[in-house]
Amino acid sequence: MRALARAIDGMELPAVEKISEEQAQEPFQVLIATILSARTQDATTHAASTRLFKRARTPRGMARLPVKEIERLIYPVSFYRNKARHVKACCTMLIARFGGRVPSTMDELMVLPGVGRKTANLVMIVGFKSGGNICVDTHVHRISNRLGWVQTRQPEETEQALYRATGRRWWPLINLYLVTWGQNVCRPISPRCERCVIASDCPRIGVASSA
Ligand code: SF4
Repeated sequence: MRALARAIDGMELPAVEKISEEQAQEPFQVLIATILSARTQDATTHAASTRLFKRARTPRGMARLPVKEIERLIYPVSFYRNKARHVKACCTMLIARFGGRVPSTMDELMVLPGVGRKTANLVMIVGFKSGGNICVDTHVHRISNRLGWVQTRQPEETEQALYRATGRRWWPLINLYLVTWGQNVCRPISPRCERCVIASDCPRIGVASSA
């Protein structure tokens, strides 16, 4: 993890971290950007979130927007119609159940429309600076298995296995480090093992060919 920390220095941040830096770690914006980010390229997520936040920056303001307008603002994120409905429903629930604020527990976050474990963990880490969560997305799942830290089939299993396999100090950093690494070096297809700073510690489990 220390080698990765040095290696990712200067690389482009993942979209949610970038938005978080720009928005002063405001949990609401982290929440909405994370909902938009599912199965969507980072640059697209960032541009869509920026357009949406220019139009509305609070749950109350966003809940007032018609779904069609949210669709237009967030297009072309993937599943933009579903995500627009989730964004509106999520804001409506934040107002009705949580006084217009983003709740700060996993159980409360996961009752929000469009919010699963991945989103809830990332909001806890990036929005609330929690040190007790690991956010597992496709990059974290893939690279943890390639490195042999875990042997799992599903991201949900990977999250629980990583709590057992890694030191607590690293939990909130695992997503940032491995997503950045996954986007730049340990790519899904043809990972760049030749230029990888942790290659000597990596058994490359399941890697058929590298660049
Ligand atoms: S050596 Fe290859 S498979 Fe292992 S972490 Fe580096 S890029 Fe990924």
